[in-house]
Amino acid sequence: MKKHNFNAGPSILPQEVIEKAAQAVLDFNGSGLSILSISHRTKDFDEVMDTADKLFRELLDIPENYKILFLGGGASTQFFEVAANFLGKKAGYVNTGVWSKKAIKEAKRYGEVEVLATSEDKNFTYIPKGFAIPADLDYLHITTNNTIYGTEYHEDIDSPVPLIADMSSDILSRPVDVKKYAMIYGGAQKNLAPAGVTFAIVRDDMLEKIVRDLPTMVNYRTHAENNSMFNTPPVFPIYVLAETLKWAKKIGGVEELYRRNVEKADLLYAEIDRNPLFKGTTAKEDRSLMNICFVMNDGYEELAPEFMEFAKSKGMVGIKGHRLVGGFRASCYNALPKESVEALVTCMQEFEKAHTK
Ligand SMILES: *Cc1c(COP(=O)(O)O)cnc(C)c1O
Repeated sequence: MKKHNFNAGPSILPQEVIEKAAQAVLDFNGSGLSILSISHRTKDFDEVMDTADKLFRELLDIPENYKILFLGGGASTQFFEVAANFLGKKAGYVNTGVWSKKAIKEAKRYGEVEVLATSEDKNFTYIPKGFAIPADLDYLHITTNNTIYGTEYHEDIDSPVPLIADMSSDILSRPVDVKKYAMIYGGAQKNLAPAGVTFAIVRDDMLEKIVRDLPTMVNYRTHAENNSMFNTPPVFPIYVLAETLKWAKKIGGVEELYRRNVEKADLLYAEIDRNPLFKGTTAKEDRSLMNICFVMNDGYEELAPEFMEFAKSKGMVGIKGHRLVGGFRASCYNALPKESVEALVTCMQEFEKAHTK
């Protein structure tokens, strides 16, 4: 049976990218060697790094005065590295869920953290807006898409201080005005690559403002000055990332990905709102295009395990909601085809027919 992969991360990648990667594992570029067994200091791998840099820049319209770093350690390592590099005295954070909280916890090791706004009062079901941003902050940190709760910023906010964003789960899903950010980072395993590589897009002037003496590997300048090759980079995940970027360009770039993502999200949210058995969990204007959360409607709560089994029997994978929210979460990342969303909608409609009184 065809599987519909709604996994939250690591998650679906384009089928043609997976096939290309499978081939490269056997024979990379006709070299007679596997991508798993080559040196990172070869011409062939240089080309992979160049492609990744060039296409990332082109697709997201990243200006020349930004460096793109490919690192290890996941977004979770960035939670402390951002603060280690840039938090001298005080930073502002917006608390929109689990990942923001983790970033706040790590930042506190390095200086004062002012939480400028939080949506914790309503279990993170909305994005706080209109909060004041003091001018004396070293930076402001936001999480643009809240993978667990299914909320997302739908515009790039204006900040009088350097704006730093965790875009782990919505990178390349929509056009972004990169110039508004001093730094954008994320784990690549949601929209770009298998687990193992982290991207960091850092404006050059930030690299001149590193506030303390740091271990070599923690200092962003190390990686900027060595084109992410100070030590062995995650070769295979970077290879797959470059292939994913080629795929994104081929299908029409970020504009087209955004169009597809809106189309998929509209389909699923419309069904959640229409179907009397289900309801959404977040404020409508802040609904995520990437992670679509829903629960059984009032009066139908006891049907949740049965719907889960039914969905599984129809090939749905990874739709169990995070334990902090419950219910269901369909992650609809870039590579998820519209057919998978249609299959889930059909599944919800069949379940409705079988259960409405
Ligand atoms: C998945 C995720 C993380 C954690 O990423 P790791 O690479 O596993 O450390 C952080 N932030 C957001 C928004 C995420 O979705």
